[in-house]
Amino acid sequence: MQPRIAGRNFLFVPGPTNVPDRVQRAMMVAMEDHRSSKFPELSTSVLHDLKKVFKTEAGQAFIFPSSGTGAWEAALTNTLSPGDKILAARFGQFSHLWIDMAQRLGFDVQVVEVEWGEGVPLQRYEEILRADQRHEIKGVLACHNETATGVTSDIAGVRRALNAADHPALLYVDAVSSLASIDFRMDDWQVDLAVSGSQKGLMLPAGLGIVCASPKALVARESARCPRVFFDFGDMLRANAGGYFPYTPSLPMLYGLRESLAIMFEEGLDNIFARHHRLAEGVRAAVRAWGLKLCARAPKWHSDTVSAILVPEGTNGADVIDVAYRRYNLALGAGLARMAGKLFRIGHLGDLNELMLLGAIAGTEMAMRDVGIQVTPGSGVAAAAEYYRGTAAPLPARTAAPQSPDATQPAGKAAPRATVRA
Ligand code: PLP
Repeated sequence: MQPRIAGRNFLFVPGPTNVPDRVQRAMMVAMEDHRSSKFPELSTSVLHDLKKVFKTEAGQAFIFPSSGTGAWEAALTNTLSPGDKILAARFGQFSHLWIDMAQRLGFDVQVVEVEWGEGVPLQRYEEILRADQRHEIKGVLACHNETATGVTSDIAGVRRALNAADHPALLYVDAVSSLASIDFRMDDWQVDLAVSGSQKGLMLPAGLGIVCASPKALVARESARCPRVFFDFGDMLRANAGGYFPYTPSLPMLYGLRESLAIMFEEGLDNIFARHHRLAEGVRAAVRAWGLKLCARAPKWHSDTVSAILVPEGTNGADVIDVAYRRYNLALGAGLARMAGKLFRIGHLGDLNELMLLGAIAGTEMAMRDVGIQVTPGSGVAAAAEYYRGTAAPLPARTAAPQSPDATQPAGKAAPRATVRA
């Protein structure tokens, strides 16, 4: 058995992320009747407010008791028929897994292989779509934020490629590790199926698979012939219309979602995106100061939710992760599939701030030195800290002078020391 390490675990995997105390408390509820007359208040409010997070007015939100993987499946099976042609790019473990799912579901997937460290190849997509004169491609997949490599793709650019080719295919976007952390605009980008999960930017435990479907996607549903039962949009639409679910929903998760939406609206989506960008820039400053490189090959691919950091030749990223976890109580993300051992990842999304990240950067730096990676002690922490200091928002003027405990006494009549209460 491992010895207990005191203090909080530093959770810096790119999901699950820290669940705010407010959300945890909101989830501590007695079970209720999910068919009661009161239940629709909760369900209709979360379904309505989720749309704001996707930035859609026209779209329809669906909440499944699943993870992001279930939401991938729901998006595909509700809108396509067996054998349909799909265009997708593979540039990391999650874009790969979605392709793998599409193939196993019986779709004909045209896969564009891309270097891991780059994102959706817009030019190539446009060429393929232009060449598809008979519009055989029914769906175009794009992973907005490839969590395995820390790469963000240009979804507006994918929409432009579709429009330039005047192609009617549905646009499917994996927003699992971007939603509520990196700007996502379902309506502006005319995304047809946007897929996400609860355990990342939404600051909840894993357990909800969330999909938003455009009106065009809902029309496609009517002729889509893939079998589906648990993930059927039709059953969900009928039940949701009255404020209910076709099966037993997870009440704590829905109460948690209600609270996390409230927290997000209090901060404001644009402020959340700006916070994620600034925190990520600090991590990138630390990586530069360490003399290391990101897996993302160019700044245009840099992800504001996760940094995948390549370790030097002859060292193993898994060793950094192991020491960080066992010695410093810091959880870092692993290199997945072909990136195993070559990198480790710092997740920087959800409910976090500068000092939390500086703790993670310090622990990473210590663990790297422990396993023989020669980074200068304190270099990453100093670079990130200075970046955060230099970019901090000006403090509002203080409205009142700080009070000392005896400040209320008239001048010259300070209370004797013994009577001052803390
Ligand atoms: N897509 C991306 C980009 C992810 O990062 C993940 C999980 O990390 C998934 C899909 C799969 O989601 P889940 O693990 O919730 O099924």
